[in-house]
Amino acid sequence: MSRAVLEISKEAIRHNARALSSYSGKKVIAVIKANGYGVGAVQMASILEDMPEVEGYAVACVEEGIELRKEGFRKKILVLGGVLKGEEKAFLEYELTPVISHAEHLKAIESVPIKFQLKYDTGMGRLGFFKDIVHDPRVEGILTHLSSPLDKDFSLAQIVCFERIIKHYPKLPYVHLESSAGVVYKVPWTTHIRIGLALHGEKPFPGYPIELKRALTLKARILSVKELPKGFPVSYSRTYITDKPKKVGVVAFGYADGLHKVLSNIAHLYYKGKPVKILGNITMDMTMVDLDGTDAKVGDWVHIVCEQQSFTDLARLAGTIPYELMCNLSNRIRRVLL
Ligand code: PLP
Repeated sequence: MSRAVLEISKEAIRHNARALSSYSGKKVIAVIKANGYGVGAVQMASILEDMPEVEGYAVACVEEGIELRKEGFRKKILVLGGVLKGEEKAFLEYELTPVISHAEHLKAIESVPIKFQLKYDTGMGRLGFFKDIVHDPRVEGILTHLSSPLDKDFSLAQIVCFERIIKHYPKLPYVHLESSAGVVYKVPWTTHIRIGLALHGEKPFPGYPIELKRALTLKARILSVKELPKGFPVSYSRTYITDKPKKVGVVAFGYADGLHKVLSNIAHLYYKGKPVKILGNITMDMTMVDLDGTDAKVGDWVHIVCEQQSFTDLARLAGTIPYELMCNLSNRIRRVLL
């Protein structure tokens, strides 16, 4: 019954997880923080839970981990944002693994018998120790994060820096740093890859060496179709005026659903595989499109993301990254597993 639907191809996501694992020769830690990049953390985990190629999940905070446990998922759950005082009991109760990146996180789990992983900052300037070596039998893993995976020289410097750090530790079951774009470095001594974006079939750069299948289709229904006369304004602030009589459709999808307003008058949506231009300002719940030359009628579907247009394509037009567009998908979009 929903007016906007995100279709998630189970088969494509499983294919992508397998392809990434096979390319790297490592198991995948599926990054499904921020509600699985907006796609749905529960939906993503339900697709990946039985896959031997997937070791576990990475989320940002304890609440995201608890949600997955309450839904019954049993794989390992890494909490990338660490542990703050007061949260430690939840980590124990829900069997969540904190990624410790600060002395204060260590203090928070002083008396808690849980395994944890350590994060090092080798050039991200965000979370992570620099050089401190933690002598603690509860350490089961160590990780770092590439800040600019498309910059080969800088990434290789980060990898060398990380290699120096891991020499201070005994052999650990979890050593990881490669993200979707970072898998190309094929680091021989890491044990896992930490992948978010590529699972959805969005390529981190043109010429990506792994065959990914696009997993996401986003569509919304047409609420109104009418012929506007020549010289008629469309939407707030009248940034588009019809240059001739025009068939204009109103699509039930606006910036509150995640279609960034900067795409007004720039981007296209798709009707039956053909581009239809966005006319005027995108509004909170609705977007107007040029339906001239189509047989579109009220109730029909218009695609926002489809074979012809990925989140990455839209992000480029909007001057942002696909991560941001995806994370902004609203709750009122129905997520459907295909
Ligand atoms: N590891 C960490 C620490 C991250 O913050 C992220 C994403 O934000 C990832 C891995 C996954 O990155 P990607 O989605 O590019 O694979």
